[in-house]
Amino acid sequence: MADYDLAILGGGLNGVSIARDASGRGLRVILLEQGDLGSGASSASPRLIHGDLSVLERRDFFRVRAALSERDVWLNIAPHLVRPMRFAIPAHADERQPWVLRAWLLLYDRIGARRRLPASATVDVTHHPVGDALKRPFGTAFEYSDCVVDDSRLVVLNAVDAAERGADIRTGARCVRADRSDIWRLVMIDRGHRKIVTARALVNATGAWTASVADTVLRVPAPPLGTTQIGQIVVRRLFDSDNVYVFQNNDRRLIFASPYERDFTLIGTVGHPFRGDPAIVAMGAGDVAYLCDAANRYFRERVETSDVLRVVSGVNSVMGASARGALRDGSMSFDARRGKAPLLTIFGGDITTARLRAERAVTKLTAFYPMLPRWTAKTPLPGGDFDWAKFEDEVDEARARWKFLGEHQARRMVAAYGSRLVSILGEAKEKSDLGPAFGPELTGAEVCYLMAKEWARFPDDILWRRSKLGLTMPAADREALAAFMAAGS
Ligand SMILES: Cc1cc2nc3c(=O)[nH]c(=O)nc-3n(C[C@H](O)[C@H](O)[C@H](O)COP(=O)(O)OP(=O)(O)OC[C@H]3O[C@@H](n4cnc5c(N)ncnc54)[C@H](O)[C@@H]3O)c2cc1C
Repeated sequence: MADYDLAILGGGLNGVSIARDASGRGLRVILLEQGDLGSGASSASPRLIHGDLSVLERRDFFRVRAALSERDVWLNIAPHLVRPMRFAIPAHADERQPWVLRAWLLLYDRIGARRRLPASATVDVTHHPVGDALKRPFGTAFEYSDCVVDDSRLVVLNAVDAAERGADIRTGARCVRADRSDIWRLVMIDRGHRKIVTARALVNATGAWTASVADTVLRVPAPPLGTTQIGQIVVRRLFDSDNVYVFQNNDRRLIFASPYERDFTLIGTVGHPFRGDPAIVAMGAGDVAYLCDAANRYFRERVETSDVLRVVSGVNSVMGASARGALRDGSMSFDARRGKAPLLTIFGGDITTARLRAERAVTKLTAFYPMLPRWTAKTPLPGGDFDWAKFEDEVDEARARWKFLGEHQARRMVAAYGSRLVSILGEAKEKSDLGPAFGPELTGAEVCYLMAKEWARFPDDILWRRSKLGLTMPAADREALAAFMAAGS
């Protein structure tokens, strides 16, 4: 008998979503991630949970409807990670006629059925806070509702849920060889040690590595894939409102400028084909300048390339020629030849539909295993067992219970941990009860929790993926954090 029912290669959003779904349906799951969870494309997304206006413009109404219905699912199962926002598009006739844009938004409202999110609206930016950050010529903007998400925490909490349902999640574990007979025999290098496990079926969810893993590790015909890079920039906060701005760039791309943590703005995305090693992804100076130029067409405050504090960039596989469409849809292939253990290959796709994609992927295995029914759409992710409209109440309750929490810290921690905050703060009466401090917000208690429950091993795992505290943490505190983690590992 095989050690596991299902082995998953890759701890990005696709891999962990499948691990969550399959373990909750009763399968014995192992997931191997060569680095940290979400260290690939899944922490370089535009962070949007949306139906995607550009898909609507291409008249793919079915896809928009599916994505908007998933938006509702995410709000219900991850109310801490997913925040509804008002998106504002300044209107001008250079790219799209304003009336056409307005009509698309009315249709977007209708397809999404909106439920509890407010409808789209026209705003006079000369008398509305949305206009404060914008250059003079804009008189009108259109607002509509969508959501933003903390992408890398979404990955981690899917993995936490999978682990709590029995999945064996191994980070720092690279699969180097897989032999296929009626079962899979996998060889991995797990934190320096060579190990072997067997599984009845295998998922290749290795993102930008999909083709090379197929070729060199699984030794099966590699799908005809290309690789694409996307990038975004982080600058100091450019506006005070809580809106996400959507700019129509002069190449018809939509550029998003979103509030990022409390003090920063994320601007993106730019994308193009990628050549090279997916482990080494740098964003070119031309891409950074492109995003600065896009912002400068709209915002009063200028953004120079020297103002860029961080770039966020990732690479993923795309199917042959139809790169853009394939990436957004995501691609999946299932190989179940007679006498051979099944192989499922999955890559690309957006965050919004990742849960649904995983559900469909696992459902393909129903012919091979007895399995419980679909379940992920109705069950909250860890810490997400509250109503999304009550997020502010959760923040208030946290501040009432742990009086030493500042407003920003409480908001950050509720957004990250939801109702599981108590596992970190426990009975603490003051901040010093939580161990050493690293920068203004991070404490020893939080670090220990992340190491024990969320697979954090190195400072970057905490500073850039389980949080974004790397944006504000002084160098001396990072060194202290590294020493603290090394002592605790
Ligand atoms: C070009 C691009 C465009 C995108 N467009 C959108 C978009 O429009 N909307 C949106 O919401 N999101 C978008 N995203 C982000 C989206 O979140 C990701 O595409 C999605 O999360 C898919 O991630 P994944 O799990 O397939 O890959 P990844 O997150 O890259 O995960 C793959 C993992 O496999 C691991 N791995 C590789 N080889 C091995 C091995 N041998 N053993 C063990 N582990 C291994 C890697 O370390 C990596 O962590 C885009 C991302 C990119 C890069």
